Amino acid sequence: MAEETIFRKIINKEIPADILYQDELVTAFRDISPKAPTHVLIIPNKLIPTSNDVCEADELALGRLFTVARKIAEQEGIAENGYRLIVNCNKHGGQEVYHLHMHLVGGEQLGTMVT
Ligand code: ADP
Repeated sequence: MAEETIFRKIINKEIPADILYQDELVTAFRDISPKAPTHVLIIPNKLIPTSNDVCEADELALGRLFTVARKIAEQEGIAENGYRLIVNCNKHGGQEVYHLHMHLVGGEQLGTMVT
């Protein structure tokens, strides 16, 4: 079984986080070390360690990541100018936390790589 990460504690509200949205499938919270004016992480509540581990049964939750990203981008006022959605996978992808997460990054002109 895959090992739980700090994100499980955020989902369960065992440690503090600035949670912007939560439902039965996903949780969205501000990144503790923001790389841009808006930097939000959107994660499935179920532990999926990396994008190598996704399966058909996860499609509803993974699709929800995008609809929540779209809503938060609108709330943050960054939808029109644009933003970036990023999922890092494993070492070469720069993944540090092994609970799949979508970075929503924006609020300024982004360089080629931000996170
Ligand atoms: P990277 O650090 O290279 O972006 P990941 O894609 O795995 O690697 O991203 C993990 C993200 O989780 C980082 O942006 C990091 O700042 C963020 N993070 C780690 N711990 C917390 C926490 N307790 N609360 C909010 N964000 C966190």
